[in-house]
Amino acid sequence: MLLDFLFPRRCLGCGRRGEYFCQECRQTIKLIENQVCPVCERPAISGRAHPRCQTRYSLDGLTSIFVYKGIIKEAIGKLKYKFITDLAEELIGLSTKYLPPGFHSEGIPRRGQPQALSTLIPVPLHPRRQRWRGFNQSELLGKRLAEKFNWQVRTDILARHKHTKPQIKLKGEERKKNIRGAFRIKPNCKLFIMNSKLILFDDVWTTGSTLRECSQVLKRAGAKEVWGLTLAR
Ligand SMILES: [Zn+2]
Ligand SMILES: [Zn+2]
Repeated sequence: MLLDFLFPRRCLGCGRRGEYFCQECRQTIKLIENQVCPVCERPAISGRAHPRCQTRYSLDGLTSIFVYKGIIKEAIGKLKYKFITDLAEELIGLSTKYLPPGFHSEGIPRRGQPQALSTLIPVPLHPRRQRWRGFNQSELLGKRLAEKFNWQVRTDILARHKHTKPQIKLKGEERKKNIRGAFRIKPNCKLFIMNSKLILFDDVWTTGSTLRECSQVLKRAGAKEVWGLTLAR
């Protein structure tokens, strides 16, 4: 491709030309071995929230694919300020490679299975921030992932109406406060949400306050099951 010639892909790990994740550096990528409960963040079988942790509006489970470090962290960081399509494709390619079948999670249906959970909702940005940045990386990554699994993507359900400080600059408790009340349900989608099973998608799980807050809003609106999915944790 001409673009590859003009802007050759370079490995994020070693700088070698050809791919963002070269065959050698791929070996350094760590998969999440133990999924955790989205409430207490202690190990939980296939990421399903412990029964004792679960509350009415909490997430039902969480699946994360990669350990957030090394070239995965680098890739996600790069995509936050500039959306490089080829990089996104490679990252999602790697993700889907590891999700099924060895990567079992009861909340995330495998490819070709009757889909119990089939609607992915990316965590939205505030419209002002999205305009400024020009894109929402969680939405663009989520769409690519969903395509591979034949999930539908809905960006007309959840809205961010409070302009919050970037979570990255804040600590755990401050993050929670900062994000509280930041999301709401968009008009005319109550019927869709009622009794729905949803996959809430974000690029990274850090403290979980964003996904927890989204889950609250969706469940208050009647969602039956909300399962978190992140590329990294
Ligand atoms: Zn490399
Ligand atoms: Zn727990």
